[in-house]
Amino acid sequence: AEVYLNGKWLKPDEAFISVFDRAFMFGDGIYEVTLFYKGKGFRLKEHLKRLQYSLDQIQIAFDAFSLENLMLEAIDRADLNNADAAVYIQVSRGAGPRSHFIPEKIKTTILLYAFPVALEGFENKTWEVMATEDKRWHRCDIKSTALLANVMANEEAIAAGFHENLLVRKGYFTEGSHSSLFFVKYGVVHTHPEGPEILSGITRAEVIKICTDLNIKVIEKAVHIDELVEVEEVFVTGTTTQIIPISSITHKDKTVYTTRKDSLTKKLQQVFIKRTRA
Ligand code: PLP
Repeated sequence: AEVYLNGKWLKPDEAFISVFDRAFMFGDGIYEVTLFYKGKGFRLKEHLKRLQYSLDQIQIAFDAFSLENLMLEAIDRADLNNADAAVYIQVSRGAGPRSHFIPEKIKTTILLYAFPVALEGFENKTWEVMATEDKRWHRCDIKSTALLANVMANEEAIAAGFHENLLVRKGYFTEGSHSSLFFVKYGVVHTHPEGPEILSGITRAEVIKICTDLNIKVIEKAVHIDELVEVEEVFVTGTTTQIIPISSITHKDKTVYTTRKDSLTKKLQQVFIKRTRA
């Protein structure tokens, strides 16, 4: 497979960026991960809109929508039209002398490539997770390449034998280290409201839409860790995660939640499969 870098399609081991690239030096870049089900992009416009939002927020002047054709080309070139595949996009501010000051004239570094993903059977999985303090910055709505706090949270979970780490800020769940987070309480779906504390997940938005279409009530309100006794179902969502039910949550070495039901999560999975594989 080839990668697209700054206007050229290259073999991965022949694609190089400057050691002074600001995404490398500062994490000064934005990324996106989009999914192509058997060659068909899912909610591409929404992904590109989110990419544009993040670029605008950190003042990188670049037209995200100019990448749409390159995404399709990446799938073609990687021969992934008959598979489930993802396209990774990264827009870095570019290379310049290492300094907090951003040079006036700087050329964005654009990286894009497609890779296969194994989604088959996701609906049969359940995840045991842990919960820890959300140590990320206060602009989690920006899809920045600076993911150290997410990586550390995920690694802590993996090292302890869990699948994901649910992040808690002042007692309230925000989201997973690499997923959006939902709770079902008295039949009502709860998820953290959009804003600087979470990423505006594309799968999250789709799940909210599905709930609305099924007349399932959704409240965009954060759930407190003490509310878990009233929670019936927990699930996480994401582009490559899809929709996965949480079977248990461990917090400070104590099990604070175990599955009570999974019927609503199962229903959402079924509708999601229909919509994505249409
Ligand atoms: N939240 C975080 C922190 C993520 O890294 C991701 C990425 O998968 C998500 C949520 C889910 O977002 P999306 O559904 O757009 O993939």
